[in-house]
Amino acid sequence: MIEELFDKLKSLQDILSQKFVIEAEIRDIPKSLATRTELVNRLKKSYIEKNEQYEQARQRIKNLKEKMQEAEESREKLEGHMDQIKTQREYEALDKEIRDASEKELQFRKELQREEKNLEEMSHAIEREESLIKEQDEELAQEQAKIKSEIDQKQQQLVQLEMEETKVNHGLDPEMLFKFERIIRSKSGLGIVPLKRGVCSGCHMILPMQFVNDVRVGKEIRFCPYCSRILFFQDDGDEVFYPEAAESIFNMDDIEDEDNDFTDEDDAEDEDEESGAEEEEAEEEEEV
Ligand SMILES: [Zn+2]
Repeated sequence: MIEELFDKLKSLQDILSQKFVIEAEIRDIPKSLATRTELVNRLKKSYIEKNEQYEQARQRIKNLKEKMQEAEESREKLEGHMDQIKTQREYEALDKEIRDASEKELQFRKELQREEKNLEEMSHAIEREESLIKEQDEELAQEQAKIKSEIDQKQQQLVQLEMEETKVNHGLDPEMLFKFERIIRSKSGLGIVPLKRGVCSGCHMILPMQFVNDVRVGKEIRFCPYCSRILFFQDDGDEVFYPEAAESIFNMDDIEDEDNDFTDEDDAEDEDEESGAEEEEAEEEEEV
């Protein structure tokens, strides 16, 4: 009778651990996309900034052209006054004005050339960025499609596994199932383990004689008092159990954790869920 239950739990363990792996994969898939999206967003931001700078440069060029035009006109006007000059003094004054105007004009022209060269470079950079963004956008869309199909596929696997799970679950005690599922989730997929030579093969703790006997008799399900896994008895032939020999494979963490809660080396991987599980465990114990 209990053998049958253990077999069911072992099948359930396979199903659940597969299920949890797939669930974790589904959770992790979008992370690879986040980096890529971030890159594209950065490119777009820089593209917008460059366009703004481009517009500013164009405005500066427009202003410079106007100023240059003004300077040119005022120089021409001054030159036109030349034939009305009567004295050397007047000539010198006008000549200076003309030279100043020319100099101003030249200065604007140089500035204009510099700005125009700058504008052309900006225009090339903007074109390059535009094509890069287009390329990245396309790749991102492809990646998103790929990820969507991957997730869809995994969801289908999950549906399949859940169907199998319902089949195996049928007739089992819901409270025990709940506990078993939680152990598998927090103990890297192992919720039912053999008790060999008085030692739980899940956490390697030596178990009390009476407890070992209860497991051997197999009247009801027993949970390891240290790691909470379900134990089934596994006969190891005539081998004699030497506690000193078993001690060498003990994990120090397990020995320190004799307060019987969910902490061993597996748990570091799943800190968040684990703390949740511990709280639940604590609540449960209070209820009992
Ligand atoms: Zn154990």
